[in-house]
Amino acid sequence: MSLWLNRIQPLLLLLSVLLVNVLFSYFAPLEQVSIAPSVLFPVVSLMLPLNLFLWSILPEKGVQNRSFNSLVLALFVLQAMFVYWLMSELPLQWIEWISLPVLSDLKLYHLSFASSLAFLFAGFVLSLKLNYEKQLRVFNHSVVFILLLMAFALNQYTQDGVLAWVSSVVGLIVILSLVFDAHHIAYTDELTGLKGRRALNESFMGLGKRYAIAMVDIDHFKNFNDTYGHDAGDKVLKIVASILDTVQGGKAYRYGGEEFTLVFANKSVDKVSTELERLRVAIANEVIYLNPKSNAKSTKNKTDPKSVSVTISLGLAEPDVDHSSPSQVLKFADEGLYKAKKAGRNKLVHSVSKPIRATAKKSVKK
Ligand code: GH3
Ligand code: MG
Ligand code: MG
Repeated sequence: MSLWLNRIQPLLLLLSVLLVNVLFSYFAPLEQVSIAPSVLFPVVSLMLPLNLFLWSILPEKGVQNRSFNSLVLALFVLQAMFVYWLMSELPLQWIEWISLPVLSDLKLYHLSFASSLAFLFAGFVLSLKLNYEKQLRVFNHSVVFILLLMAFALNQYTQDGVLAWVSSVVGLIVILSLVFDAHHIAYTDELTGLKGRRALNESFMGLGKRYAIAMVDIDHFKNFNDTYGHDAGDKVLKIVASILDTVQGGKAYRYGGEEFTLVFANKSVDKVSTELERLRVAIANEVIYLNPKSNAKSTKNKTDPKSVSVTISLGLAEPDVDHSSPSQVLKFADEGLYKAKKAGRNKLVHSVSKPIRATAKKSVKK
């Protein structure tokens, strides 16, 4: 899965967990009484949290970055040599130091002071890092949980099978988190954070008989891009999306480019037009501050920021005799949007096909 998704971190994490299992089962099997566990256990239980920490803190470089892969290989080989050296040379002072128990008379807690500290440190720093990350990645969250699980497994190491079982659960968690992340990437628009076209099409499957769909398009956006630059345009897209995301009773999607779709399940057009008007006015009234040097900024800072605003046009439709499927209703709403543009923009137009409804509210001015 790592190869397929081009992510090296999950691979390294699972490799570390696998190596711990292999090391214990070959060099320190529980059924044999030997000196090996008393050396291997403190060393490995100290190195595992540090490794998990390292693999999470190093940047994700994908599976094909040669220099990164060489670095990782070198780190693994160095650690293997270190463990081998420790096991053969056995500098007692070191072993004593890393085996120091948290409390000497604790029967249920076997992890050493050094290992506990390493687990705590890794968990704490990775949790802090999560706080500062903008992207939501389930995998990154799961690493903290995996640290907890592995601390538990190492602590229960003397109980037959616990380490193997917990390691399997860790593998399952990694795979599930990758599936969640892949789903998120596929369905979410990266720029605006709104759900994208794929999610919109899937939402159609769950719609009943009554619903309303609105198509939204930013007015004169090409001009805006040409005047203020593409980065300023992106900033505006984010701001417009964040306002559309506040929609009550419906859900906002990025249809593509500077077009958005609002889907209102179990609602008729009469119920949603007030809400759409609120969004239209809110966007028209939003003052966006652009810094001429570093493009757009929505906050009042820097010297001489330029304030601009944008407007949106909307088309709204619901199913009727001529438009029964959601994709037909969407096209019908798009016709309304086209009319709103023709009528001067910054407007909401409700598409109606039956003559009896031709007198219904067609457009509402600012
Ligand atoms: P109208 O009022 O008729 O909608 O005019 P318009 O200029 O908004 O319409 P048009 O479809 O000609 O232009 C859409 C522009 O949207 C073209 C493109 O530069 C811009 N655009 C589309 N996607 C993005 C994006 O992701 N970022 C930025 N910055 N601009 C985008
Ligand atoms: Mg457009
Ligand atoms: Mg436009």
